Amino acid sequence: GHNFGDSLLREVGERLRRETADAGLCARLGGDEFAILIESAAGDGMLIERAHRLLSAMRDPFQIEGQVIYTSTSVGGARGQAGVNADELMRRVDLALYAAKARGRDAFAMYDETLDQQARERSSIRTELTEALQRRELELFYQPIIALDSGQTVAYEALLRWRHPTRGLLLPDQFLTIAEESDLIIPIGDWVVQQALADAAEWEGDFRLSINLSPSQTRHLHLLTTVEDALATSGIAAGRLEFEITEHVLIEDAAAGAAMLERLRKLGVQIALDDFGTGYSSLSYLRRYPFDRIKIDRTFVADIETSDEARAIVSTLTRLADALDMRTTAEGIERPGQLDLLRKLG
Ligand code: MG
Ligand code: MG
Repeated sequence: GHNFGDSLLREVGERLRRETADAGLCARLGGDEFAILIESAAGDGMLIERAHRLLSAMRDPFQIEGQVIYTSTSVGGARGQAGVNADELMRRVDLALYAAKARGRDAFAMYDETLDQQARERSSIRTELTEALQRRELELFYQPIIALDSGQTVAYEALLRWRHPTRGLLLPDQFLTIAEESDLIIPIGDWVVQQALADAAEWEGDFRLSINLSPSQTRHLHLLTTVEDALATSGIAAGRLEFEITEHVLIEDAAAGAAMLERLRKLGVQIALDDFGTGYSSLSYLRRYPFDRIKIDRTFVADIETSDEARAIVSTLTRLADALDMRTTAEGIERPGQLDLLRKLG
C-alpha cells in the first residue's frame, strides 16, 4: 500500500543522504527517482566508485514495519562540463539511467555520446513504426512445428518481421520494445492476429496456428474483441488457435494476466507458455495456471549436444510437463543431432 511505499521511500532517502553526507546534494525527483549532485574536480573513476558504493548500499535489505524488504537500484551518471547547463545535464543523466535499466537490475551506466545516438535511433524507429503499418512494411513469417511421432507439420508459429525500407529486415527485438513503450503495440498486435488468421484461412490442412502475445497486449480487454472478430472473419475454429505468452504476463500483474488468459481460454483457444527456462521461470506459474503447452527455450536446444546441464533441464521439463498433462514444444531445432536427443528426452 501507499503508506508502506512511503516508509520505504523515506528509508531510501535516509540511506542516500548518509552515503552523500560528505560531499553532495541529494534530492528526490519524484516517484522512485532520486538525484545526487556531487561537486568535485576528480575524474570519472570517482563517479564510478561512488555509483557502485550506492548500488551496494541499496542492496542491503530494508526493515519496514517489521518486514524485510529487498530492493534493487539503477544508477545513471553524467559529468557537468563547460557548455552543459542543468537541463542538459539532467537529460544526459536520464539517458544514462535508461541505459543502466536496459542492462537489468542493479546496474550503473555512465553517459557518453553513443547514448545520444541510440536515443535518436529509438525516436526515429518510433516515428517510422507508426507509418510501417500503413505502408504494409510488417510481415509474418511462419515457423513450422512438427510432431515427433508422425513427422507431420502440425502447427505454424507466426513470427513478426519489419521489412524496413533502409534498415533491412528487422527482428522483433529490434522494434517491439519501442512499440511497447509507445502503445503502438496495440495496433501492431491487432494486425498480427488478423493477418495470421487471414493467412491461415488460405491454407489447406488441419494445422494449429500459434500467435505470440506481448504482455501489454494482454492488459487490454479489447484484445478479446480482436480475437473474436478475426476468428469469425477467417472462419478458423478457435480450437486451432494457440496464443504464446511469456511469464511476464503473469509477473507484472498476476491477477489481471491470469484473468485475461481465462477469458481467452473461454473463447476456446489454447495457451502456451513461451521461452520456458529463461527469466524467472517460476514453477508456481505451472501450478497456478493450466497451460496447454510449454515451449522449451531455444537456448537449451542450442546446447543440448554439448551440455549435460541443458540435457538435464530438457529431460526434467518434459517429465514435468507429462506429469502436469501439458505438451511440450522444443524451439529452434536446427541439427539432426539435436532432434535425436530431444526424441530420447521425450
Ligand atoms: Mg513464441
Ligand atoms: Mg519462443
